[in-house]
Amino acid sequence: MKNRAHGIKDSARPLGFARDGRGRTVWLWFGVLQRREPGYRNYRLTMVKVLSICVLFVTICLADNKAQSADKGATNTSSSPYAKLQSVDIDDVQWTKGFWAERFDLCHKVMIPNMWRLLEDPNISGAYDNFLIAAGLKKGRHRGPKWHDGDFYKWLEAAAFVYGVTKDEKLNQQMDRIIDVIGKTQRKDGYIHTPVIISQRSQTPVRRTPNGETTEFANRLDFETYNMGHLMTCACIHYRATGKATLLNIAKKAADFLYMVYKKSPQDLANNAICPSHYMGVVEMYRTTGEPRYLELAKALIDIRDLVENGSDHNQDRIPLRKQTKAVGHAVRANYLYAGAADVYAETGDNSLLAALEAIWDDVAYRKMYITGATGALYDGASPDGSKDHEAIQLVHQAYGREYQLPNITAHNESCATVGFALWNWRMLAITAQARFADILELAFYNGVLSAISLNGKKFFYTNPLRVVEDLPFELRWSRKREPYISCFCCPPNVVRTIAEVSSFAYSIPVVSLSNPSDEGVWVNLYGSNVLDTKFPDGSRIKLIQETDYPWDGTIRIILEDAPPREFSVFLRIPGWANGSIVKVNDKLAGDNLKTEQYFEVKRKWSAGDVIKLVLPMPVQLIEANPLAEEVRNQVAIKRGPIVYCLESVDLPDGIKIMDVAIPPTIKLTSHFDKELLGGVTVLQGKAHFLGGSTWGEVLYREISHQKPKAIDIRLIPYYAWGNRGKSEMTVWMPLR
Ligand SMILES: [Zn+2]
Repeated sequence: MKNRAHGIKDSARPLGFARDGRGRTVWLWFGVLQRREPGYRNYRLTMVKVLSICVLFVTICLADNKAQSADKGATNTSSSPYAKLQSVDIDDVQWTKGFWAERFDLCHKVMIPNMWRLLEDPNISGAYDNFLIAAGLKKGRHRGPKWHDGDFYKWLEAAAFVYGVTKDEKLNQQMDRIIDVIGKTQRKDGYIHTPVIISQRSQTPVRRTPNGETTEFANRLDFETYNMGHLMTCACIHYRATGKATLLNIAKKAADFLYMVYKKSPQDLANNAICPSHYMGVVEMYRTTGEPRYLELAKALIDIRDLVENGSDHNQDRIPLRKQTKAVGHAVRANYLYAGAADVYAETGDNSLLAALEAIWDDVAYRKMYITGATGALYDGASPDGSKDHEAIQLVHQAYGREYQLPNITAHNESCATVGFALWNWRMLAITAQARFADILELAFYNGVLSAISLNGKKFFYTNPLRVVEDLPFELRWSRKREPYISCFCCPPNVVRTIAEVSSFAYSIPVVSLSNPSDEGVWVNLYGSNVLDTKFPDGSRIKLIQETDYPWDGTIRIILEDAPPREFSVFLRIPGWANGSIVKVNDKLAGDNLKTEQYFEVKRKWSAGDVIKLVLPMPVQLIEANPLAEEVRNQVAIKRGPIVYCLESVDLPDGIKIMDVAIPPTIKLTSHFDKELLGGVTVLQGKAHFLGGSTWGEVLYREISHQKPKAIDIRLIPYYAWGNRGKSEMTVWMPLR
């Protein structure tokens, strides 16, 4: 493995890490040998045996390391029997310039330090103070929401990943100090959740059992398992990035605690599966440590959901997951559940789980997803909607609505839901190697995720509407302008860790297993200028350089720097929007008019210096929605490549509101890159129609005007960049007229 001394990493592994104990057996043989051949008379024979055994030991260690592959990216499916693809290592991809390089750099230099300032300041967040107080290092009470520990772990995960790429020693030391405090908060039995621990420590419990003790799992809305789940994911990333097991040991104790609860009181664990980040967390702990109890726990976490009494669609536990075919309820909880279930499938091959996930995915991708990749249309709603049995109808909030129910102004689209959807798609990609999942991953990153953070990296959206207008006669629960701090702080660190980790989703390599004896190859999932330097499962090195101005330009050059001297494939993702794409290898056509929403396979014997040129045409596209999506009937959205565009009021002449603008079907939109605007964006310009002033007053209905609309110049900007120029109105969908 590149840049890694496995001996050093192994010595840092926690006790009991080894999966199979083969190393220990060798040492035992060595001990027997020493006892049998103690004297100098047999010295030569002994040395031959010792050397032979050393060679055997090294061979076994190497084989063992290959099997364990403890270093991977955002996930590690290298040994997952039912995954087809795996990540490359955290530092295997380095952004070099352009879109993602700029965002990664901003994440490193601004987002992470700025967010630390927020989390550390007890007058703003109190998240770090909660750990200090729970650790007994400070006096005080718990502040912030019950899930605030999870918010903190997400920030720490971002810091760990960025350290893994940059090796910024300051981050490393900062994490060490923080992890020391986190360790001090943990109870001996592994339980770790600052609201309850502070309560227990201060002897002023917020909840007491009849015999006067503060107890865990007293209220499912305490989000205890959610917090511990984020701890586990964070710890796996920290371990992979640093080779240190400090946080991993804390997470192991937490996972052991959950295992103990599962054995003693599975009902408690089932009832407290709220926003179940611990499904992903526990599986990743299994992948990192090889501890079989964690796989047992992960499987059980899905099964025990059926124990929940009086479950709700809101929490996706009204009916067993395996019987579900539709995305329902709280969208973050739903997407975390589906992502966790996909992880369990990757380890178990449980086809009943995959069947449910495929059906639910179709329901989202074809009927419930916004054009930005965001999910969770409703602030509040009801489920099961339309039931004749009134008693059965339950409230849901921050939730998936019914099919095709996609409002714009009141779209909830919590940023965490988009992140969760991306995580789920990443896992579906690993399981299936199908490009449709990578397409959504890209759509979500460029639109739904990036919209949630300001261009300067310091302001946030909790919700991500597709239209914002001033004259709305009601308030919405969440701010429609970017805020430097949000009282519910789950989204900002979720977005920051995602931006930190985009490089981890850019490439995949195959998992070679009995169920998937696939050829070697490298899957190019995302485009952006970077260097990939990684190894195939057999240890052979592949290094390539990707050069592109993507997403502003669809020409991508991939230069092979180092490749094993044999035939293998490069799989290039041809996005669903990229009609008429061509691939050349060393200037010779390798394929044209390529099938979209597929990976195009280029298989050959590569040599250093070979150049692949992929051209994905990026014309401006006017997009319409299925007519059943009535909120966008007779409207168009505009896309170019993977980027969704919007009209923002600051780009309109004075006195013209966004609701007054219509798009003629024959509009000609030209694109050009404006490096001065919004950090450098490609804008679209053209002549739209001004429909006349919106002087509606108290009128609800009126006859249409027969006046000919006037032509006005409009400029469209990427949706992710809206809301960065002060207060404004914005719309993605515009009437076609
Ligand atoms: Zn959130």
